[in-house]
Amino acid sequence: MSTIPIRSVCNFVNNQAVPASNNDTLEVTSPGTGQAIARVPLSSSDDVDTAVAAAAKAWPAWTALTVNARSAKLMALHGLLTEHAGELVDLIVSEHGKTRTEAFGDVSKGLETLAYAAGSGALGAGQATYVSSGVLCRMDRAGLGVVASIVPFNFPFMVPFWTLPLALAMGNTCVLKPSEKVPLTMTRVAELAASILPPGVLNLVHGGSAVAQALIDHPGVAAVTFVGSSPVAESVHARVTARGKRVLALGGAKNHLVALPDCDLEMTARDIVASFTGCAGQRCMAASVLLVVGEQPELVARVVELARALVPGSDGPLAMGPVIDAAAVTRIEAAVRGAAQSGAELLLDGHASTTKFAARQAESGGFWVGPSIIRHRSAGDSALREEIFGPVLSVLHCADAHEALAIENASAFGNAACVYTASGAAAEFFAQKFAAAMIGVNVGVPVPREPFSFGGCKRSRFGSSDITGDAAIEFFSTRRKITTKWSVPADQSWMS
Ligand code: NAD
Repeated sequence: MSTIPIRSVCNFVNNQAVPASNNDTLEVTSPGTGQAIARVPLSSSDDVDTAVAAAAKAWPAWTALTVNARSAKLMALHGLLTEHAGELVDLIVSEHGKTRTEAFGDVSKGLETLAYAAGSGALGAGQATYVSSGVLCRMDRAGLGVVASIVPFNFPFMVPFWTLPLALAMGNTCVLKPSEKVPLTMTRVAELAASILPPGVLNLVHGGSAVAQALIDHPGVAAVTFVGSSPVAESVHARVTARGKRVLALGGAKNHLVALPDCDLEMTARDIVASFTGCAGQRCMAASVLLVVGEQPELVARVVELARALVPGSDGPLAMGPVIDAAAVTRIEAAVRGAAQSGAELLLDGHASTTKFAARQAESGGFWVGPSIIRHRSAGDSALREEIFGPVLSVLHCADAHEALAIENASAFGNAACVYTASGAAAEFFAQKFAAAMIGVNVGVPVPREPFSFGGCKRSRFGSSDITGDAAIEFFSTRRKITTKWSVPADQSWMS
């Protein structure tokens, strides 16, 4: 029987908690224990109407503020959320299962994008120039209206903060649909933001795909951002586009790391393990495929040794957290078993040989899966091509750099790729030739932090923009071009 009270989560509209109009709810479980911690509403289209109406009502006054005035509010929000960072970290550990260090990273990276947006008065400034004799053209930026943001479970704070701060700074009002798996963190953020943002500027509607689709279809929503798996991203992109709205939909990933024979063995091994096991592999930037050029048995052995040393938990340098739910456990184990059945070698079996995780699951419940490392014989294996989204690394030996590059280039995803080498020339070769949009050299999680913008290519991104940085300033605003000509009257008596 549960020993902790189960919270009832509400939508958040006009700076107030608002119960959903129906009684449909979903249980939110803590991945570390499998215990229910909350019930989240599966809101109806009426609830979407209410939230969009509030955002639409708030829009004229919000967009009429100067960029500096909006930035000042975002700066105040940054201060308040920084004060409450510990509380937000606790919520993320509880509802998502990240380790405390990872949860702190989730919050601090989200606060970075908020700080960037708070400075957008300068970043999003317009331009003016004489385009003809006496004819001045000036460009400024106007908000779009109500922006909907649909986000995944894996970064309860950071991913919503990829979109909300710049959307707000550019003069939009927002309706966020958090992941139904992790509704608590952003609900708390909305409660805190209510003391700073005017009513209706930031609203939350909880639920699953039906609510997301009602938001997309709502005529009062001007633009949609989505982050999640590729099939859903593709369908969201098509659905929003069909309604003539602006859309950016980020999808899944299968990131390749290439280890050249001259790489620094210890640094490379540590970086690879951190990349594929961090957040229990539930990161779109996580390493999935290690392409080892040549044999490099010491490197592979060290990667296995470091991964084997990880322990289940939420604290400490060797801790790895649980995955999000039972379905994730089943999916990950099926991918590993399937690879073994098709002839791949399990260098580390997250289920059978890392029994610490199975023991933890037996003791405390929850969704614990140890890291797995699979040595493949063929680049065609499905575990090596499809997103697994768990702590699984596929290893394939390549005869040379060209073979490694060809495998990376053939991936359906184009999110991130990394090369480990001591050679500047080799690094530059791969940086130029990788078919991914976020590239690392000796950096296994090459997140382009602000001012650079975040986004992949191919099936990792549907839409033409990136989601943060200067690309997002463009996405969340319309450029207005105002051309003026004044002739000086012959009668200048008004001057006297
Ligand atoms: P998901 O696609 O299952 O869900 C994402 C969001 O979409 C949730 O809010 C969900 O309620 C909603 N949703 C589900 N079905 C929908 C539908 N048919 N129409 C509209 N909305 C729908 O993803 P997830 O499991 O929450 O997150 C993991 C996925 O997100 C992974 O594939 C990961 O790679 C990806 N991801 C990508 C990035 C990136 O930057 N490219 C970042 C984080 C996560």
